[in-house]
Amino acid sequence: MSENMTITSNQIIKAVESLKKLRPVYGMILDFYGQIFVAQEDSKSKLHIDQVQISEEMLSIKAEENFPLINMSQFAIDAKGAGDLLIRICDIIKEAGGDMASTAQTVLKAIEEDKFDQSELFAGLLNEDDAFFENTAKKLEVEKKDLAFIAYTSLKPSLSMCAEQLSAYMDKDKPWGKGYCPICGSQPGLSMFQGEGERFLFCGFCWHKWASNRIVCPFCDNTDTKTLNYFFSEDEKEYRVDLCDKCKKYIKTIDSRKTERIIYPLLEQVATLHLDIKAKEMKYESGTHFA
Ligand SMILES: [Zn+2]
Ligand SMILES: [Zn+2]
Repeated sequence: MSENMTITSNQIIKAVESLKKLRPVYGMILDFYGQIFVAQEDSKSKLHIDQVQISEEMLSIKAEENFPLINMSQFAIDAKGAGDLLIRICDIIKEAGGDMASTAQTVLKAIEEDKFDQSELFAGLLNEDDAFFENTAKKLEVEKKDLAFIAYTSLKPSLSMCAEQLSAYMDKDKPWGKGYCPICGSQPGLSMFQGEGERFLFCGFCWHKWASNRIVCPFCDNTDTKTLNYFFSEDEKEYRVDLCDKCKKYIKTIDSRKTERIIYPLLEQVATLHLDIKAKEMKYESGTHFA
């Protein structure tokens, strides 16, 4: 659902500034991602996403079986718009001068010389074609994970917009109640408490937001409070990390009732890397491989 995801570039910049004040150690990371998120939000006004059609019959089968509406390869994307965003994102990465700068530079050069087709990269990502990324990275002599990052960040606005269109197919009166995304079936990347304490999950791939039960592990459906724990720090009351001792996975949770800041979930995700480190030290694994 997009109502809480609709945010202007200006609000992202404000969210970056308030997080930087709270956690100066994240200054560079927040500046970097802030620019990426602004570029992504800006690009949305230029994207055209075709409507994915799902027949009534298919819809009822999916509802019956608790299947997500589509799988990853079925996302409708704007390859041209995502390709333009890819160039902007590579520029941001190059300017930032970090570890990925040389990959961004190589990709930009390959595009200029017509040796690189962004749309193939997007198809590779949606089809989870690891070999394609492996070969392309080898050919360009860049890091595969950098290439995957560039592809995913460029495609994300298309994915979110497609997910938003698809959410119209969902039955508003029947809560999904599952731990995986009702749109694309991916695992959640983040969880959030809001309002009266209702819990929501954000898809780690398309960032669709859906309502969840409060006490459940989204990865294995465990509801036993004896094996569901969490940790938090007194200094950061708006975050906690939910841990499941049954599947040994964790998910970060933001309690939006405990802060006045503008919450942009993707930014919160990158401003809490210390929590990932702590959870991993405690021998828990992230439940999503995207976030
Ligand atoms: Zn999804
Ligand atoms: Zn679990």
